[in-house]
Amino acid sequence: MHQTPPADTIVAIATAPGAGGVGMLRLSGPRARDIAQAVGVRTMQPRHAHYARFRDAHGEVIDDGIALWFPAPNSFTGEEVVELQGHGSPVVLQQLVARCIALGARQARPGEFSERAFLNGKLDLAQAEAIADLIAASDTRAARAARRSLDGVFSRRVDEVAEQLVVLRIHVEAAIDFADEPLDTLGGAQVRSGLGQALGALRQLRDDAERGRKLRDGLHAVLVGPPNAGKSSLLNALAGSERAIVTDIAGTTRDTLRETIRIDGLELTLVDTAGLREGGDAIEREGMRRAHVEMQRTDLAIIVLDARDPQAGHAAVADAIVEVPQQLWIHNKSDLLETLPPPVDPNVVHVSAATGLGLERLHARLRELASGGAGDSVDGEFSARARHVEAIVLAIGHAERADAELAHEHLELAAEELRLAHEALGGITGRMSADDLLGRIFSSFCIGK
Ligand code: GDP
Ligand code: ZN
Repeated sequence: MHQTPPADTIVAIATAPGAGGVGMLRLSGPRARDIAQAVGVRTMQPRHAHYARFRDAHGEVIDDGIALWFPAPNSFTGEEVVELQGHGSPVVLQQLVARCIALGARQARPGEFSERAFLNGKLDLAQAEAIADLIAASDTRAARAARRSLDGVFSRRVDEVAEQLVVLRIHVEAAIDFADEPLDTLGGAQVRSGLGQALGALRQLRDDAERGRKLRDGLHAVLVGPPNAGKSSLLNALAGSERAIVTDIAGTTRDTLRETIRIDGLELTLVDTAGLREGGDAIEREGMRRAHVEMQRTDLAIIVLDARDPQAGHAAVADAIVEVPQQLWIHNKSDLLETLPPPVDPNVVHVSAATGLGLERLHARLRELASGGAGDSVDGEFSARARHVEAIVLAIGHAERADAELAHEHLELAAEELRLAHEALGGITGRMSADDLLGRIFSSFCIGK
């Protein structure tokens, strides 16, 4: 099912841009070894470090270092791979790349090494994506989760459900061939209970993948509330900086401001919005429009109200927050209250952005929300992307329709829905996926990976 891998040899600097103690250049493709030899590497034994002097076209030494040869197919890409390690000088590494290109290699596109690993069946798509997620991980927990996805933890879960769907398809397709018999005499009850189990597994997978997505992307929260309630002040208090402009003139936060904070290793993106209210000038209206856009894609609405009169703000935010999955109500300016009401509802927190009162409790609550209610790192937790969650949701929809069709003994329609559910899952690992999807995924990688 994999496409034929390309026949050319690619080259790129694999270490991070900038100066460093050591820099590494990676060659992959049928001519990797020839090119390395032409650069000056004399002897090469598989997976042995060899000292070499790397030379330009006139035999002048560019740098000296180590060469490593990984013969196909036992390499990262599954092709002939040679790694050249020299000093981490961007100028030297660039000269080496130029030399390899002059000798017939081609500059690799971003993500092209991982793409080749995928095309050669070394990794599936979710694993290849996990490489990028591991490299970009912002904390230990996200890195650990990406590492598990790279090891195939997520892919195996997907494959297991896909396998269940295949078995069901086979049963239904077989029943179609015995069209005279009712499904029940052909094990229809088993098919339906099998489908029920597959649906259960799919829903569990969706929840786990969603948690993995939050680990990767962090929790996205939007601060909303009437003007002057203290949204910008609260953002500053949480971020510990003075980024948002705070004034007592209602409607000063005209644009949206975002700040990424980390609570116990969990990333939280906070977006401050213009106060939600009607009217205002053109700039303010633009700010409100952006606020509404933010609301459509956020995980959490943090509604900031004035503790002295919380009811006053309710009406203004009610419309905006209906579609947001989770809500946290903040009664700010609690320092101005005579007495502090006892905490009853965990989703209502009294704070003061000015004095810091209640911020500890708010942190704890945000942390709970950011970890998706899962608390500390969970065994088997894996990283996932929005694309994966969408594919699982799609598969669930088709599986549910398959179930409905089976209930009406519409076997052809049920078989088709099962096929579509299976196909949706196949897109996650790339075992059934279109070229344009591959292009989109790998182009977001960095060069040399
Ligand atoms: P926003 O329009 O919701 O972003 O509100 P701002 O953060 O700009 O704050 C509006 C005004 O309320 C400013 O004068 C702040 O200093 C004040 N303010 C914000 N939070 C508190 C608080 O917790 N206590 C008190 N006493 N004043 C606050
Ligand atoms: Zn503001």
